[in-house]
Amino acid sequence: MGVGAAAIWGLVQFSRSERWVEHTYEVLAQIERVEAEVRRAESEARAYRLTSDPAHYAQYLAAAPLVRQRADALVALVADNPAQTSRAHDIGTRARLRLRELESLIQLQRTHGAEAAIAATRSGEGARLMQALIEAESAMRDAESELLRERKQASDARARWVIGIVVVGTLLPIALLGLLMAGLSRENRRVRELEREAREAMIELERIAVRRDRLSEQRRILGTYTGLLQSCQNLGEAMALTGRVVDELLPDAGGRCYVMRASQNLVESAGTFGSPATPSEDLMPPEHCWALRRGQVHRTDTGHTGLRCAHVGPTAHSDEWTLCVPLAAHGTTLGLLHVSGRASTGSDEAQADAVESIGEQLSQTMANLQLRESLRVQSLRDPLTQLYNRRYLEENLFRELQRCERRGLPLTVMMLDVDHFKRFNDENGHAAGDALLARVGEVLVDLTRGEDIACRYGGEEFTIILPEANLEVATRRAEEIRAAIGSLSVIHMRRVLGPVTVSIGVACFPEHGGSPERLLAAADSALYRAKGHGRNRVVISAA
Ligand code: GH3
Ligand code: MG
Ligand code: MG
Repeated sequence: MGVGAAAIWGLVQFSRSERWVEHTYEVLAQIERVEAEVRRAESEARAYRLTSDPAHYAQYLAAAPLVRQRADALVALVADNPAQTSRAHDIGTRARLRLRELESLIQLQRTHGAEAAIAATRSGEGARLMQALIEAESAMRDAESELLRERKQASDARARWVIGIVVVGTLLPIALLGLLMAGLSRENRRVRELEREAREAMIELERIAVRRDRLSEQRRILGTYTGLLQSCQNLGEAMALTGRVVDELLPDAGGRCYVMRASQNLVESAGTFGSPATPSEDLMPPEHCWALRRGQVHRTDTGHTGLRCAHVGPTAHSDEWTLCVPLAAHGTTLGLLHVSGRASTGSDEAQADAVESIGEQLSQTMANLQLRESLRVQSLRDPLTQLYNRRYLEENLFRELQRCERRGLPLTVMMLDVDHFKRFNDENGHAAGDALLARVGEVLVDLTRGEDIACRYGGEEFTIILPEANLEVATRRAEEIRAAIGSLSVIHMRRVLGPVTVSIGVACFPEHGGSPERLLAAADSALYRAKGHGRNRVVISAA
């Protein structure tokens, strides 16, 4: 706005200067016109004097007022400048003097003849007057030229000034606009940056809120778990509960609970839960698991950092993770909690921690349950032979049978009866009979595996449950037992007793029966046949 006004003012000044320049040219032209008219009057007067042609006189008469007129116009033209006005008056005066001299020559010729006029011209008055006029004109021209030069300079300066104003007036807004744009863009960037930061902060807050909710949910689940775990009556219940809780904590993962066998050479699946990302063996030596080997939690992450346990199947997904938590208490390994899942389903560190604390709780519960179990087992032992009693057998045969059936594995039941034991008692006394029975019990423990269940069924009858043993294996074992007892020598009261023999009946699942009762009956009937066929032998059920 200011720049525009300045430019307009500059333009007005510039055009005013230009008018002054034009005025100077006008003044110079007017001086020329005055001189031209004087010269025309001069030449017409001379021509009249030479020819006496009245036409020339008429022309002379026409030029004379024009000279005055032009001289007056010249004065009017420089009215604003007193110095030039005075010079213009001077020119006018000299022009008039020249006209008057011409007029007097014409009058002289008319009155005294051409000779007199010619003589008058020889005096040089005309040339002097003309010279004076030319000098006056020249003085005025010089003064006007000086003015012209000054005005031109002023005009040029104003032109430069206008150009300067226009250039500055044009460039300055552009520069200001540029600065403004740069400032705006910087401000815009800053606003966007702040918006991004605010957005990220919101997302982080939401993430924290989700994590906090998840953690409090985990705490609630773990609290409930701890309470329920204390009410579990046996390992099966504890395992089932654990599976449910892990499934609740990690709904998209899954796995297995394992229990270490009494023999400590195998860990066996006690239950599965959820949908594991990768399968895991259901029965394995402890060496197959890094967690069991090292006695600490073992994890493989997405991208498979960490050693993969041998019990875990081949990788099925690139974002798979596995977690093995050893279950141990008082320095004894009790089992394993194994979970696998996929990172894309949103499991996190906190959930893995929760699984670990479940492992700790479960270990404690397992230890308590095992202690309770061993106390219970003690009440289920036969005090003479230290073998399990019949109640224990009946309880466990059903469970073992179900387990083997579930896995498609065989199970064998052996029934042993000492041959002619009544006679042995009669011959050696009841106490010797007891000593022999205790010794037979030891042989049975020695010749069976940790997971086999050897019981004193009653009197001099024994039963052995051999889970996972097929008929062939069990028959071989029965022969070994028969042979071992047959070669027993029992020293009682410094007397060597025996030898005694045993008859053994063998019945196998699934061939000879699918229920505990049928298997026991089949084994009993085989034993009966062994007795019938002469004793001291192994007979396989014919059922
Ligand atoms: P078989 O070859 O047909 O089996 O003849 P057996 O004499 O062994 O069979 P029977 O059932 O007639 O006799 C079993 C005997 O075992 C009767 C009983 O006195 C004896 N017996 C049962 N329980 C005990 C015990 O705890 N200690 C002792 N010393 N003897 C027992
Ligand atoms: Mg008997
Ligand atoms: Mg007997």
